[in-house]
Amino acid sequence: MTNTKAKIGIVGLGLIGGSIEKCLTNTCKYEILTVSASQGRQHKLEDLKDCDLVFLCGPQGVIYKQLEEIASLQAQPESEFFQNTIITDVGSTKQKICERAEELGLKNFVGGHPMAGTEEQGYDASFPELFGGCTWVLTEQSARTRLLEELIIIDLGAGNIEIIDPVTHDKAVAAISHVPLVLSIGLGNLLSEVPQAKKFIGPGFKGMARLAKGNQTLGKEIITANRGNIKEVWKIYRNYVDSFLDIAGDNLIEEIEEVKTVLQ
Ligand code: NAP
Repeated sequence: MTNTKAKIGIVGLGLIGGSIEKCLTNTCKYEILTVSASQGRQHKLEDLKDCDLVFLCGPQGVIYKQLEEIASLQAQPESEFFQNTIITDVGSTKQKICERAEELGLKNFVGGHPMAGTEEQGYDASFPELFGGCTWVLTEQSARTRLLEELIIIDLGAGNIEIIDPVTHDKAVAAISHVPLVLSIGLGNLLSEVPQAKKFIGPGFKGMARLAKGNQTLGKEIITANRGNIKEVWKIYRNYVDSFLDIAGDNLIEEIEEVKTVLQ
């Protein structure tokens, strides 16, 4: 009986890619091939040609270029490159990446987004438990995504997989992830405007402003890729806060209680 291990490729060993690698290495279930400049790994993207599954874990701008490279290798006459490989990514927005994959005619691409992270970056910050209990978004569920789904839940320890189309995903993450990032940056900026407040900072402010301390390259990419949705959600937020500040007396208590029930 042959006992061939599934071959998994990971491209980019930063916080997310490094955490996937460390976790999958611990399971000893897979043959793992990694592409990483910072960690001096010997493989190039094309060496992953016969992997069962490849995770693209770089910044979004880099993912676009890698999709182009894979599509061009796939399309060569009688190509042996990536013919049976599921290609997935971990980028924080999905619409532009999925559109690009479709334009390129990329075979077997499934968009992905683990809803996990810290404000740290790079391989040294990565750790195998990062995805424990998290939601992992995929843009498709079908027979071909079975290995990917098993690996996400059983090996990486995600709590659940949500299947969602890229447009709906980007609107949703604008509300739960990207507007909070913008708010956090705005709070940080308040300290330049009201410098005397800095010496009174406590855990509440620190918690609210934590996201502003994150990876600025990813912050730039997220805001650039999802600016339209972020602006729309921001308008809803601003209108609500403006009207909230006009509520008086016991109605304020009722309003706060109502919001608490939404958050439960
Ligand atoms: P990171 O820690 O900065 O790692 C990104 C890695 O991408 C780098 O370590 C590097 O890997 C590679 N890379 C960077 N610039 C590159 C370039 N110009 N060309 C080729 N490779 C390059 O970032 P991360 O937090 O892991 O984020 C990676 C992806 O996950 C992003 O698309 C982000 O949107 C998404 N994401 C992040 C979070 C989060 O909270 N951080 C959460 C969900 C999704 P090597 O040096 O190993 O080549």
